[in-house]
Amino acid sequence: MTHYETIIGLEVHAQLLTASKMFCGCNAAYAAAPPNTHVCPVCMALPGVLPVINRAAVEQTILAGLALNCAIGPEAVFARKNYHYADLPKGYQISQYELPLCREGWIEVEDEVEGKVKRIGITRAHLEEDTGKLIHTTGASLVDLNRAGVPLLEIVTEPDMRSPDEAYAYLTRLQRILRYLQVSTADMEKGAMRCEANVSVRPAGQAAFGVKVEVKNLNSFRAVKLALEYEVSRQIAALERGERVVQVTMGWDEERGRTVIQRVKESANDYRYFPEPDLPPLVIAPEWVAAIRSRLPELPDARMARFVNELGLDPQDARVLAEDRAVAEYYESVLRQASAIRPAGPPGQQREIPSAVTPKTVANWVTGELFRLMNAAGAEIAAVRITPEAFAELLELAAAGQINLNSAKRVFGVMFETGRPARAIVQELGLTQVSDVDALAAAVAGIIGQYPDEVARYRGGKESLFNWFLGQVMRETRGKGNPAVVKDLLREALTANADLKSSTGGCHVLRRTR
Ligand code: ADP
Ligand code: ZN
Ligand code: MG
Repeated sequence: MTHYETIIGLEVHAQLLTASKMFCGCNAAYAAAPPNTHVCPVCMALPGVLPVINRAAVEQTILAGLALNCAIGPEAVFARKNYHYADLPKGYQISQYELPLCREGWIEVEDEVEGKVKRIGITRAHLEEDTGKLIHTTGASLVDLNRAGVPLLEIVTEPDMRSPDEAYAYLTRLQRILRYLQVSTADMEKGAMRCEANVSVRPAGQAAFGVKVEVKNLNSFRAVKLALEYEVSRQIAALERGERVVQVTMGWDEERGRTVIQRVKESANDYRYFPEPDLPPLVIAPEWVAAIRSRLPELPDARMARFVNELGLDPQDARVLAEDRAVAEYYESVLRQASAIRPAGPPGQQREIPSAVTPKTVANWVTGELFRLMNAAGAEIAAVRITPEAFAELLELAAAGQINLNSAKRVFGVMFETGRPARAIVQELGLTQVSDVDALAAAVAGIIGQYPDEVARYRGGKESLFNWFLGQVMRETRGKGNPAVVKDLLREALTANADLKSSTGGCHVLRRTR
């Protein structure tokens, strides 16, 4: 069988997070609104109205374009894309055609298998308006125009992807960037990010691309991957049978797990694009772009690299922490609180002591305890009630040996529930760690006196009993004993008297093993 190469290019629409719609003042947050309540003459397309460009939408598009390494402007033109559908009362959508806001950028994706970094070219990123929605009921189709005119950012890639996995990786990266920029929720399941996938195959070695098929109706990352995998096999099978691939638009049938023909591909010509006569060309001054660039946050890949190189985290932890901007910021503020150099000693003769809490410790607590509690509660980071100050305080108490690890976890659980500071909970629960050697030595002596058989077995060579003794003493101190101190005392007590009592001990062992 011939070996085939897969070619994929993606078109993504992301709903921008502006307060108002693209060309009118209507509220753009329509999700929970009753039908046709976020509408006005402009987005209902009544005769005689004029659109006005939403500045925030343009700035968000430029911000996204910069993050995608695109060239911006210097001029951008809105264009009419003409077609007829019941959810589009104007009979055209205002989009961009010849002069998009952003062009010629790229995103880097990492090959999961080989770990190699590859650039996926971005052909263009432009601004357009969304359509309304049809609600089909028995005997009628209803039109809801709440969504009509909501700004969409469209991002088109070069045909650079070579596998469904690579397309998946691209989408994940893109989503992460859009979320970092806070220009879109980029939630595919909720329709805030939609993807159309173009895919073709060609015999390996052939220079020209094969005929492409466009797949729509992809409502999740998984659907994109499954639909592409299905299309690749379908196209290869057709070519192997000596048939041609026909350029069509397909829909993904989730239930049957296959693509279905929707229509024969329309061409740009059918849309009769022409510059929007009601809007002026946008002139994008370099100073404007520079001002927007200064608002560009550190992006996830850069942040991850910094976590590895400057904080010494391992790549896995760095990735988990950097992935979500809110998590990354939370982590960094806990770290800042913890490593604030604080004064020690009486006023006048203070010296500065650095925190004993390391970036690694904080990372372990965030990805371990915090994520565990968040998962169990189904809570997002924004809902976490532990302030970075309180978090850092707890870690300081643990690092200073004032509470032991188990107590720290218990206190953390209460902090998560109540949002209260660490020290108050430690005192309330009476968890302050006992490091007082005399008190602990008494507890150790008590346990040794209580379990002579076990002492004998330990001395007879059963060293694994040590942890059992440790457990008994810790229980005796109700978990507050400083384990390091207890261990020392125990070791001492168990060996120091060994000579003195060896005969008795030996007898016990002999009697028991006979
Ligand atoms: P159309 O005019 O049909 O919309 P475009 O040239 O605008 O086609 O490309 C749309 C998308 O399809 C882009 O993401 C592009 O990278 C991708 N694409 C173009 N040709 C192919 C091909 N032969 N195989 C796979 N994807 C392709
Ligand atoms: Zn409106
Ligand atoms: Mg196209």
